[in-house]
Amino acid sequence: MIDSLDLTKTIFDEINISNDLVMDFDGSAYSARDYMKKYYNGMRRQFERGVLPKAYEHPTGAQLELTYRCNQKCRHCYNQSGGDNSNNPSLSLEDWKRIAHELGELGIFQCVISGGEPTLMGEGLFEIMDILHSYNVKFIIITNGMLIDKEKINRLKKYKYSWFQVSIDGSRPELHDYVRGVESWEKAVNAANLVVEAGLPLVIAHAVVKKNLDYLEEMIDMAYLLGAVKITTGPFSYMGRAVLNSDELELTEDEKKKVYEISNKKAAEYKGRLQVGISSEEAISLRMKLIEPNGVMLIRPNGDVKFDCVAPFKIGNVLTEDIQDIWDKVGKNVWSNPRMVEYVNSIKSSRDLLTVKPRINVDEDELLKPFERSL
Ligand code: SF4
Repeated sequence: MIDSLDLTKTIFDEINISNDLVMDFDGSAYSARDYMKKYYNGMRRQFERGVLPKAYEHPTGAQLELTYRCNQKCRHCYNQSGGDNSNNPSLSLEDWKRIAHELGELGIFQCVISGGEPTLMGEGLFEIMDILHSYNVKFIIITNGMLIDKEKINRLKKYKYSWFQVSIDGSRPELHDYVRGVESWEKAVNAANLVVEAGLPLVIAHAVVKKNLDYLEEMIDMAYLLGAVKITTGPFSYMGRAVLNSDELELTEDEKKKVYEISNKKAAEYKGRLQVGISSEEAISLRMKLIEPNGVMLIRPNGDVKFDCVAPFKIGNVLTEDIQDIWDKVGKNVWSNPRMVEYVNSIKSSRDLLTVKPRINVDEDELLKPFERSL
């Protein structure tokens, strides 16, 4: 991290990006490099004034990937859900409930619920969310919407949300269904409508691939008409099944630039009415994480603990260790771990995710060794 290691070389090293644009929380757009400098200087000031700790004593947020199972088989799925891994050994509901209590006791304030498809957990999903809710935890739920109906949304609306995310990969059924591998557009759109009707903040996640690129403007208009507060768009990432399908999905550099131009234009058009978020490239997002103290733990369906969806590393397993122990040993200083820094150094463009090993959710995650950072 920036206080004790000279990471400036890694952070500001030459990288090769097609999207020189980062959207701030308020929807303002900055050149990626300017934003990184602004962010870096802001963090540095906060460390110097003692506003931010050098490391958090416990995780402040978590992501629970509750299951490998999925009722879709998306061509770009970052963790290859809904395929051969559906029967991999997974945590039991009792394990997840114990983890929910453990995280609640540690004082996390936000939890991302994802999978696979989390609604496939049935009653178990509500049992886990009830526990976290009793600790006043706020949620982000990530769903493909296939199993969201009126009854389910009426039960889900009692929780507090940062946002409720439904993935829609096309403004027309044939586009969405092609990307998602099953007929599901109508259900996804219906789910989005139900989320808005229930008064929950709808975010639409939209991955751009070759086939739906020409319909991106229409898709952003549709998000507005559905009543979403935000649509997050951008080219798909080279992770999981997208690595295996990259020939079919991949955009040229010019096409990627087009994605960013359209998103940027629509962001200006809808300013104040719909936020159009553009995903920043991994070469940027990984470098930005080097600047921050880590606050997050991500728990995979088999109990492996990670700290980020992109970085192909794990730091322990909740079946054999306490969450706090994993945090103390590796989690809290994970972004200044020399192996992590070495990995980030090697990702200079989004295409590097295809070749630099380990590849995300294609190769097995590498176990990071504990690293004592001198404070
Ligand atoms: S991207 Fe989401 S909906 Fe699609 S297969 Fe993966 S987990 Fe399922």
